[in-house]
Amino acid sequence: MPDAAVATATQCAGCGGWNETVVDESGGSRQSYVEDCQVCCKPNVLNICWDSAAEEFVIEAQLES
Ligand SMILES: [Zn+2]
Repeated sequence: MPDAAVATATQCAGCGGWNETVVDESGGSRQSYVEDCQVCCKPNVLNICWDSAAEEFVIEAQLES
């Protein structure tokens, strides 16, 4: 795990726009939270998991239903 919060780019599931999010590694290797797209303002559910092989967070975005 990285030592500090990690800035990562995520792609909005609604408009495809890119957003930057900061993953707080103290939240664990699996996290899920909602963040509004900075482009279209739709809420995206971000499912985050730590890829220990690649040593980076993998983020999947989907629109909040
Ligand atoms: Zn968007």
